[in-house]
Amino acid sequence: MRVPCVMCGKHKGRVEKHMKKEHFLKCLAYLRTCTGSVALHGIGEPLCYPGLLDLIEDPGSARLCFNTNGLLLDERVARQLVRKKVAAVNVSIDAAEPATYLRIRHNSLERVKANLRRLAEIKKQKKSALPRVTVNMCLMKENVREMAAFVDLAAETGAAAVLFFPMNPVMEPNIRWEWFDYAAQHVSDLPELHDRCVLAAEARAAALGIEFVYNGRKYLTGASGVSWHGRGLPETCPAAFGNVLVDTDGGVRLCCHMKGPVGHLDEDSLEAAYNGPLAAEIRERISAGAFHEYCMSEDCVYYREYRDAALQRLPERLGEAERAARSLGRAAAAWKAGVDDTGGAMLPAFTMLLAACDALLNDLAASGRKAPESLKGELITILRGFMHSAAACVRSRSAAAVNRVIAREAVPLLAQFQKLLDACSVGRQIKEAVCA
Ligand code: SF4
Repeated sequence: MRVPCVMCGKHKGRVEKHMKKEHFLKCLAYLRTCTGSVALHGIGEPLCYPGLLDLIEDPGSARLCFNTNGLLLDERVARQLVRKKVAAVNVSIDAAEPATYLRIRHNSLERVKANLRRLAEIKKQKKSALPRVTVNMCLMKENVREMAAFVDLAAETGAAAVLFFPMNPVMEPNIRWEWFDYAAQHVSDLPELHDRCVLAAEARAAALGIEFVYNGRKYLTGASGVSWHGRGLPETCPAAFGNVLVDTDGGVRLCCHMKGPVGHLDEDSLEAAYNGPLAAEIRERISAGAFHEYCMSEDCVYYREYRDAALQRLPERLGEAERAARSLGRAAAAWKAGVDDTGGAMLPAFTMLLAACDALLNDLAASGRKAPESLKGELITILRGFMHSAAACVRSRSAAAVNRVIAREAVPLLAQFQKLLDACSVGRQIKEAVCA
């Protein structure tokens, strides 16, 4: 029971422990007020938790469900699931053949199938539709050929649906365990086999009246142009607004990818942590199209997409800043040479440079690269000074007044700026930051 499945996140060094009973009871108190789904699982097997179902007296209006490997789903547990009206149980099986099951899950497929058949029998005796049983397969090269047979397994064990999940396109760090290599097991480089197996399983499910769910449908060849590596994500993360997750140590998170908890059950109620100031700050950042540092996690697919897009934009941003700097240099030279008496051309050039630097610094931050604080500070001070003198010029009523403002404010600033500017001076420093 304690040997994890080959593709499991436990290989990334997660600690095995049970949640304290007082934390669990604190969650249960909140659970009764919920109207949504309450999943009694994270990474790990929920039925290993001592007396899990004994502790749940009355789930109130919550829709209780959980994922399990099904190995501990004995007769007693099966009867409890039916009696306590647990809404859904999803059994992770990942194979239709005993040998494949043994390789992936290190156990006996027959044992799980027997447990599921018994649960189906008890539901029938009690005339209960609950729990709704689904079986799922995490799709990899090792098992993709067994998709259609997996649908047969679902029918044979009384499951209402089959769920197939492709593995994540990116796993960092890569998981390696015994014969298994997460990156090498991905079916993305076998598109023909993938398509054939998916379509065969779908047809089999239709013939047997089993619900077929495949959340990698967009990866089928020819499906709406979404590649294995471009996932067509929603604009903002939905998890932060509708999820709450409690760690085994009592930490409260908005999802399992966050770098840290937003509260702790030792100090807060679940509700207080979920609605606390840190959670609000994180949601505010996400609503503004950015990411809080708690979300800047390699595990978060939304952040990775956002960061990679920002990284891709950097050369373009750099080019915009350099062009804006050169155009300002030309406007300043024209003013110095007396071609542009009032220095009026400097204002739009500055506005352009300001916007370009702003966009560049934002993308630098989003990409995880840091512009040197000294560069940012210097740029901001000089740009603000220039904006101030440009505004004074605009307010001035005569050419003489404009010239006075320029001489008093803009000339010293220009000297400072030229040190930094010289187009390449700004460019070099930013380039250094980009390439650091
Ligand atoms: S870590 Fe990612 S998935 Fe989690 S709340 Fe933040 S943005 Fe959403």
